[in-house]
Amino acid sequence: MNEYKELLFEISRSNRRACSLPQSDVPTVSLKEKFTEKFVREEPANLPEVSEPQLMRHYTALSNKNFGVDNGFYPLGSCTMKYNPKINEDVARYDGFAHIHPLQPTQTLQGSFQLMYELQEDLKVVSGMDEVSLQPAAGAHGEWAGLMIIKAYHETNNELDVRRKILVPDSAHGTNPASAVIAGFDVIEIPSNEDGTVDLEALKEQVGPDTAGLMLTNPNTLGIFEKDILEMAEIVHEVGGLLYYDGANLNAIMGITTPGAMGFDIVHLNLHKSFSTPHGGGGPGSGPIGVKAFLTPYLPVPKIEKSGEEFVLNSDYPLSIGRIKGYFGNFGVNVRAYTYIRTMGGSGLRKVSESAVLHANYLRHRLEPYYDSPYPQICKHEFVLSGNRQKKLGVRTTDIAKRLLDFGYYAPTIYFPLIVEECLMIEPTETESKETLDEFANVMIRIAQEVEQNPEIVTQAPHYTSVKRLDEVTAARKPVVRFE
Ligand SMILES: *Cc1c(COP(=O)(O)O)cnc(C)c1O
Repeated sequence: MNEYKELLFEISRSNRRACSLPQSDVPTVSLKEKFTEKFVREEPANLPEVSEPQLMRHYTALSNKNFGVDNGFYPLGSCTMKYNPKINEDVARYDGFAHIHPLQPTQTLQGSFQLMYELQEDLKVVSGMDEVSLQPAAGAHGEWAGLMIIKAYHETNNELDVRRKILVPDSAHGTNPASAVIAGFDVIEIPSNEDGTVDLEALKEQVGPDTAGLMLTNPNTLGIFEKDILEMAEIVHEVGGLLYYDGANLNAIMGITTPGAMGFDIVHLNLHKSFSTPHGGGGPGSGPIGVKAFLTPYLPVPKIEKSGEEFVLNSDYPLSIGRIKGYFGNFGVNVRAYTYIRTMGGSGLRKVSESAVLHANYLRHRLEPYYDSPYPQICKHEFVLSGNRQKKLGVRTTDIAKRLLDFGYYAPTIYFPLIVEECLMIEPTETESKETLDEFANVMIRIAQEVEQNPEIVTQAPHYTSVKRLDEVTAARKPVVRFE
């Protein structure tokens, strides 16, 4: 590990810390310049006075209420709650990365530009794309950016007036149709087959001269790889549509195949999922997009480019969709992802995916006798079960999720995807041991038995958490925030 820390330390030292710059290079704004006099307080604000230990106990108590992957198993499907190696945190805290300001002159930020440039190069290989932009701040932001590129491309070809439709399979992540609507397109839903993959006949019926593109989540939210993906790409390309790949589930395919190889034109990746940076609670994230060569003129600006030995910013791309994020994206997340990629290497990333898929299939295999399995086949990095069998005995999936809390587990994603009744969506990730997977499987099996023998213990759960079951209707308006 130390060699990687040294390598990254060297890169960070190419940056000059903001406090070491001449005064003239440091952007400063005085309060008086920024606000008109009438907004400046006359009296100091009446803030609560607390001592340091009071403050410390307050925040420590809050942090103890939190549950994270450092506390325990977190099999939240679609979210890839893998362990985040702490070397990423060490590197993100290097002075050269933490104590800089994005408005410093670019010559004093060469280390950051080198890191972002090299991260883009790595992501090109991982995604099979020709160019990458790190600007999008999250997966959904990347989706929107990609759709704006689809829009700009059709506009350049004078086809935007007719190409209004984005096709989205019903097994897509929920952000896909939402992003398409925000970008101004009409969404057409494509149904899935019994085997959980896109119905090609239905797709053929929907494509036409009004198709702007297809957005595909792959593996889809059932954890199933779209085996007809090459044919789908052909069907959409044939009518002049573009292909967008939701690559947030890259954890299943890293180093094995790429969206580029599958014929896709645009992809987003979720660095905060597959590339191990802490996420949850709304951010920060990083959702870079990659595109094939013919779409590079549309990428956001400024682009980070190399001119001789120097890294420079270039905004001279008249077809660009413009700047979509202040400065350079969420730089701290990108530092962590770059550190992760350097420490894993290409073969390490492949091993991540192989283990993630193995773990999911192991758990699926152990649980299938006890829960309904709507798609009983080899899955990728996650899988879905249904609580229909338990529902017939009066226990809902939400009860099972709450019972899991009694055993110290975060619950899986439930009631999503919408196409599975009483759905449980489980993603164990590659960073868990066989012991953890077995303990979790044993608890899930025990709960299935409780449902048959003593359903109240499940419907009344949780019993051992500090806050008991809340009234779900009032929980949002009258949250219970005190320990009992
Ligand atoms: C998480 C996820 C997204 C959205 O990513 P955010 O960073 O939460 O905006 C999109 N698609 C899939 C498949 C995801 O799992």
